[in-house]
Amino acid sequence: MTESCCCPPEAGNSVCDLPAQDFQRPPRAMNSCPECGKTGKLVQGQTIKSLLSISLRQVQDTKYFFCRTQTCSVVYFSADGEQTFTVEQVREKVYQKEPKAEDVFICYCFRHTVGELLSASPEDHIAILDNINTGINTGRCACDLRNPQGSCCLGNVRNMINQLEKPAFEGT
Ligand SMILES: [Zn+2]
Repeated sequence: MTESCCCPPEAGNSVCDLPAQDFQRPPRAMNSCPECGKTGKLVQGQTIKSLLSISLRQVQDTKYFFCRTQTCSVVYFSADGEQTFTVEQVREKVYQKEPKAEDVFICYCFRHTVGELLSASPEDHIAILDNINTGINTGRCACDLRNPQGSCCLGNVRNMINQLEKPAFEGT
């Protein structure tokens, strides 16, 4: 199974966490979340606009970053740190903020929840990954518009499945 991002541009591959095969990523921005201090991940403008539940009049012509810190209520913050959008101002529950909530989506495009993965067998896990990969390969995904992180969910899904299928004696 390849660990690189094979998503098309419309799936947000320019801001994907997975290493891209032939995409030259811009130098890493060291912008840190004004709330928790951790480095955020650049998101595209359309991600902010489609995910916010508040008036888009508040969105400025600047770069925005996604904060993945679970305990931090900030989801997006502006490059200058002056503006923050919190979980209450986002239309979707954010997987990174509530990774244990059964009804939170881990794959927003094809509607797979944490609860579904938790109750799925190893065979089901393969089927879910196949379903996501097929969806991506046939251009059905819109991770930049659906997923609050603004990029494809495959890294999160694979990580969660790896954790679930780890033999118990290796567990933490
Ligand atoms: Zn934060």
